[in-house]
Amino acid sequence: MFTAANVIDEVHTCPNCGQKMTCCQAPPIHVGDGLGWGSEYLFICLNDDCPLFVRGWQHCENDYGHCASYRYMELPGSKESNVMMVASKDAFTGSVVDKKELAAQDKRQKKIAEAVADLSGAEAAGNFPPALYLTCEEAANRDDRRRAMAILAKIAGPEIIDPIRNHKFRDPALEAEAGLIIKSVLERHYLRECPHCGELVKMQAKKCKHCGSELGDH
Ligand SMILES: [Zn+2]
Ligand SMILES: [Zn+2]
Repeated sequence: MFTAANVIDEVHTCPNCGQKMTCCQAPPIHVGDGLGWGSEYLFICLNDDCPLFVRGWQHCENDYGHCASYRYMELPGSKESNVMMVASKDAFTGSVVDKKELAAQDKRQKKIAEAVADLSGAEAAGNFPPALYLTCEEAANRDDRRRAMAILAKIAGPEIIDPIRNHKFRDPALEAEAGLIIKSVLERHYLRECPHCGELVKMQAKKCKHCGSELGDH
């Protein structure tokens, strides 16, 4: 596995034009065979004057009768030659990897790893912040997030409700689970959310102390 940090400093030079190649985010699917590249990053020659790219347009026109060309490509840690078919000049310009962004990604992954390590023992120690962080961290592993949620359900207080409610879950199944966590936290603290204003009120309250609404039996 190549992490972002050790990939970005690799130097790859295009044998076709001699230009330094650009580190790009790999497309999710290998266009040719449906397999992944085995790497999150690829080095691609984005030189528009690269002979391979310039000749490619004519070649694709002759062979396939459609408008496309090739970019020269190498995988991180390898000098093996690959070519990638591209439908336009800008095919990879949107996925050029930014060094600052990579550093930020590495930092985020490190924070995730630390929070995951903190999960063991979190329940016994009543330490909920790492679990809350993972619950709302979309870049974390799904199983780790579910483990984090199970811990929240057991030990967290109502302070976790707002952060979870304010988080936009990309995975609807995780969002549904998060809803159940909130429910169990509320029950454990004999609270409920006012159906009119959303503030927390005591389970047995007849009237919301925040908005004054009458609260029927739930
Ligand atoms: Zn080139
Ligand atoms: Zn209310």
